[in-house]
Amino acid sequence: MSDPEQASLALAADAGIHRLAIPTPFQVGRVNAYLIEDSPLTLVDSGPNSAKALDELEQALEALGHAIEDIELLVITHQHIDHFGLASILARRSGAEVASLDRLTGFLARYGEESDIEDRFAQQIMLSHGIPSEIVTALRSVSASFRAWGSAVEVTRPLADGSTLKLRERELRVLHRPGHSPSDTVFHDEQRGILLSADHLIAHISSNPLLARPLEADEDYSGPRPQALLTYMASLEQTREMSLELVLPGHGQPITDHAGLIDERFRMHARRAKKIHGLIAQAPRTAHEIATELWGNVAVTQAYLTLSEVLGHIDLLLRDGEATERETDGVVRFEASS
Ligand SMILES: [Zn+2]
Repeated sequence: MSDPEQASLALAADAGIHRLAIPTPFQVGRVNAYLIEDSPLTLVDSGPNSAKALDELEQALEALGHAIEDIELLVITHQHIDHFGLASILARRSGAEVASLDRLTGFLARYGEESDIEDRFAQQIMLSHGIPSEIVTALRSVSASFRAWGSAVEVTRPLADGSTLKLRERELRVLHRPGHSPSDTVFHDEQRGILLSADHLIAHISSNPLLARPLEADEDYSGPRPQALLTYMASLEQTREMSLELVLPGHGQPITDHAGLIDERFRMHARRAKKIHGLIAQAPRTAHEIATELWGNVAVTQAYLTLSEVLGHIDLLLRDGEATERETDGVVRFEASS
């Protein structure tokens, strides 16, 4: 651990917030849960639904003098299973209240069915953007095999965007910051200048603006393709304006210069959009062909992730009038228009 990282974690600990890095089976590595020593004793995110995660969480709590049974409030930051998978087990063992953004509660309660619907949505997107059907089928079984790392959970305390979560020693402002997922929620301690950012802002990786159905959408949603990167950048702009001493993210080390990091992200997205513009200026291409040009075989092994990246940047070009899209035989191709 680097010195600045240690110093930031010490600062958080002074404020009663402890990072618990929980193992996940995913490429992202460990996920950060945060224990807030306050009343109620609060855990922000749970880690995935696995024996290993549960075991390490128990040990981490024990090192701080607590047990799972002591948790009184469990807060869920967004709809990804590395963050909420263990929540139902923890809630059952501790009797803790479970809090999340109000519009996420339906998804969490019906996790299994919602995942099926999500998969069908993703499948449609992948096929219409040029991913071969055998890859789509293979990815679907990968996604199904990850299903058990999540688990449905009943939210007992829905939180409205802009509301305040009051603990004895602090107030946390609940702020919806969609983009990485439709439900990303950050928690702001204005008094201390601390933000629990989950996957909205991460230091060592740029958060993926993953394509997902809108939360309120019908099961057979076929409306316009969600513009995850545009949504995400609008959320980042809001966060950039905040006055923050310390940002505690859902993965990796704390962030002390959020505005600098966000500016860096904006520059990266502009560069990537420009590169993609160059590719479609040579010839019209599908999003999958663009992803293959940019990332080679990763566009196959991480097809949905890379597709989401490309479409996000295409949305920037479409917005700025630099690209057009055309559908032929159910497959969408993009071409440069300036
Ligand atoms: Zn996430």
